[in-house]
Amino acid sequence: MIKAVRGFKDILPEEIPYYRFIEEKIKGILENFGFREIRIPVLEHIEVFERSIGNTTDIVEKEMYTLKDKGGEILALRPEATAGIVRSLIENALHLKCPVLKFYFSGPMFRYERPQAGRLRQFHQFNVEVFGIKEASLDAEVVALLYIIFQELGIEKHINLEINHLGCKECRPIYKSLLINFLSSKKEKLCKDCKRRMERNPLRVLDCKNPECKEVTLQAPKICEHLCTECRRYFGETLDYLNILGIPYTINPMIVRGLDYYTGIVFEAISTEIGAQSAVAAGGRYDNLVEDMGGPPIPGIGFAIGEERAVMLLKKEKKVKEEDPRVFFAVLGEEAKRTMIPIVFKLRLKGIKCEMEHDCRKSLKSQMRKADKIKAKYAVITGEEEVKEGFTIVRNMESKEQFKVKIEELVRFFEEVER
Ligand code: ATP
Ligand code: MG
Repeated sequence: MIKAVRGFKDILPEEIPYYRFIEEKIKGILENFGFREIRIPVLEHIEVFERSIGNTTDIVEKEMYTLKDKGGEILALRPEATAGIVRSLIENALHLKCPVLKFYFSGPMFRYERPQAGRLRQFHQFNVEVFGIKEASLDAEVVALLYIIFQELGIEKHINLEINHLGCKECRPIYKSLLINFLSSKKEKLCKDCKRRMERNPLRVLDCKNPECKEVTLQAPKICEHLCTECRRYFGETLDYLNILGIPYTINPMIVRGLDYYTGIVFEAISTEIGAQSAVAAGGRYDNLVEDMGGPPIPGIGFAIGEERAVMLLKKEKKVKEEDPRVFFAVLGEEAKRTMIPIVFKLRLKGIKCEMEHDCRKSLKSQMRKADKIKAKYAVITGEEEVKEGFTIVRNMESKEQFKVKIEELVRFFEEVER
């Protein structure tokens, strides 16, 4: 048997309603908030990710799916969407064409990670990005939007919104040296990866999932206590706006995010109910990214929601399933089938979900068992006799009531009862 690739999962029909529910709800909210959809390719030149996410991050160092195409170009399956959206913004000069730069995107992402509950190699994200505005009120709006999405999905009580500020070109280097000093004094307690990170990318140590490293970093200096005056003001103002909007949050100085492009506000929606994989969504401000990728100096802020993890939470809250067929057509004999098939089509085109038994030699009993199985609300039973008389029998599967309806009036009958 040929199996799916490890970490790549089929989303089967019974799970689809959860994904649809999430995607449709989020799209509805975002359209109301003035966001427009953008669709970017799955494959990009590898530089798109190396230059944005950063060469010393886990994603670029070990998680990327790369390939060489037949023309010898090195490409990568996108591990996240922000880099591709920024590439598209620059390439299409969207900042010159669109008066409002608010975009959303949803689709599969690919990372070579160790698969476990809530961690896949192909997973789905819903992305939101805003460009061109650097104001605390916008940061608060974006963070609030994330919370409102969870609220509208009915799962806000399963998450905690945690927020931090990573400083700027002025204060971050000062903090970095404080952190390096601290980490050097605890070096022997850190994991192998963190010993390496310490020199190349010390903030990343705060993001390590290893329990011993976590223990050490609890005592580390906290970035939000070492911000310059301007960053402190900006952070405070953002939190003020969140208060005005009534959004609950916690300040968590350990949030640094796994991608290098973040500057300023960063945030995560954390859940304790989905195992070790606790972030359901995450994001932050990235004011240098567009310029670093060769574009004009345009600031940006955004977040990504992990759909698989959001589905895990949604399943705790409610059952989402697709609607059962309304009408099942039991047809006994060739003549009945020929008479009923155009009616089945007519009803379907009027938006009434119908199924018909194609094997008209099957007994009435076996056809009715099928009507039960598919949970149809009505069964329409037609045999040779009924066709001759121009009538058919409609059975309400719940109340077991039966009545005769003229075949020519069947469409109107269901339009009436389904109204
Ligand atoms: P984690 O700390 O779980 O590795 P991350 O910081 O790498 O997450 P981001 O790059 O910020 O994640 O992606 C945003 C969201 O996408 C995450 O909060 C999570 O919900 C989801 N996500 C990330 N990686 C995976 C994965 N391998 N499988 C499923 N969902 C994922
Ligand atoms: Mg990760």
